[in-house]
Amino acid sequence: MDCDGCREAMSAALDGEADAAEQARIDAHLDGCPACRSWQRDAALVTRHARTAAVGAGPDLVDRVVGAAPRPRCGGAGCPRGPGSPPSGWRRRCSGSSRCSVPRRTPTR
Ligand SMILES: [Zn+2]
Repeated sequence: MDCDGCREAMSAALDGEADAAEQARIDAHLDGCPACRSWQRDAALVTRHARTAAVGAGPDLVDRVVGAAPRPRCGGAGCPRGPGSPPSGWRRRCSGSSRCSVPRRTPTR
């Protein structure tokens, strides 16, 4: 096994994808190759950090997602929101009065 093959095999081993025979070939190479032993330490450290690092809060996308979503219009007879073709379920919520629960359409950017 050469260094490139060993490093590829070590990467697989770090992901739990090396069987006992592959691990034995890795160990045999590592016995005589300090450069790959160093690579293995670094790769293990990077893998551990990637798996255990805290994930910070991402950007707040709620307003963008909600703003981009299509808004159904009620369309019920007498609905103050105006005419339209609401999906099933929406029409039932329309009281046909100023208390209609169908949200107003918001302008898209
Ligand atoms: Zn090597």
